[in-house]
Amino acid sequence: MTQEHRQKSGFDTRAIHAGYEPDPMTGAVIPPIYATSTYKQDGVGGLRGGYEYSRSGNPTRTALEGNLAALEEGERGFAFASGLAAEDTLLRTICVPGDHVVIPDDAYGGTFRLVDKVLSRWGLEHSPAAVSDLDAVRAAIVPGRTKAVWIETPTNPLLNIGDIEALAAVAHEAGALLVVDNTFASPYLQQPLTLGADVVVHSTTKYCGGHSDVVGGALVVRDLELAESIGFLHNSVGAVAGPFDAWLVLRGLKTLGVRMDRHSDNAEKVVEFLAGHPAVTQVFYPGLEDHPGHAIAARQMKRYGGIVSFRVTGGEQHALDVCSRAEIFTLGESLGGVESLIEHPGRMTHASVAGTDLEVPGDLIRLSVGIETADDLLGDLDRALGAR
Ligand SMILES: *Cc1c(COP(=O)(O)O)cnc(C)c1O
Repeated sequence: MTQEHRQKSGFDTRAIHAGYEPDPMTGAVIPPIYATSTYKQDGVGGLRGGYEYSRSGNPTRTALEGNLAALEEGERGFAFASGLAAEDTLLRTICVPGDHVVIPDDAYGGTFRLVDKVLSRWGLEHSPAAVSDLDAVRAAIVPGRTKAVWIETPTNPLLNIGDIEALAAVAHEAGALLVVDNTFASPYLQQPLTLGADVVVHSTTKYCGGHSDVVGGALVVRDLELAESIGFLHNSVGAVAGPFDAWLVLRGLKTLGVRMDRHSDNAEKVVEFLAGHPAVTQVFYPGLEDHPGHAIAARQMKRYGGIVSFRVTGGEQHALDVCSRAEIFTLGESLGGVESLIEHPGRMTHASVAGTDLEVPGDLIRLSVGIETADDLLGDLDRALGAR
């Protein structure tokens, strides 16, 4: 697919075609898994297609990187061994010891641990701020030292919304980059680079891969100078995606659009069901009109995605019982796969923030709504919630 073609075509066409041309020798429609560490050179330095060693470049990974860049409307994509590997490489590209970053006050736990426990030892400082509060983000910036404002939107597990366009302006005023972890929305629902963000981060483990069978991460940028610096660390640090993993994520991306539409359809039905259930006291979903971030989400997202959180009557014990009784909703961490998952953030994904300001309510349950038959999901939740 030519560059010109790619720019003109719709999301699903790009998802299926961008990044790879059928192999000129065999016509293979799908990129092979290039399980090779090195490449034969045609005379010293005579590289074929620029490939010399698979940490630096591998054709299966190249196909994925081109696809991700096209989906996020960026110039360059980089595929990593995990979301956290991508985050680490990015932070060490754009910061030096003594610099500062603003992070969400409800950041993904692994992001918080990376910044708070690993990069802090390297001299990187951070301040938390609520992504939904522009003044709080502005106040958390340390003039001259803040190199990045890092946000997630929607956040986890309470689905708070940050205004990407406004946050980009706040970051840029201070000479900082706006980094958006777009894992929850996926590029189908939201394209932060088109709203002024400088870097998009993904855990491709989640919706991009979409089948709970691979761990991976990605960065996408528009600026070529920034791409050059990221590329240098991508190769120098070497936390790259292997060819098998790259192939799985690329396969997943081809169906991202249809999956996200079905995730959103099913989540909307689940939200409606939960909102009318007597054992449910509160539902968190940006698609709800009374959600505080609804207007912003409606502006910057195509739909509202597959993650739903809710609180139940009967306190923590009832929430734990609901998690244990669900059958189609599998009790487990992670999200974004075709199968529905249920979890108790207080005891599972967010156990490490117990006792801090970030503690989540004990009666809270998070769902990653999958793409099964909607009525079966509603029946499962009804059973799990117990007698009405
Ligand atoms: C899972 C996740 C990550 C980390 O990605 P890994 O692939 O597990 O390393 C980062 N951000 C968000 C929002 C996530 O859900």
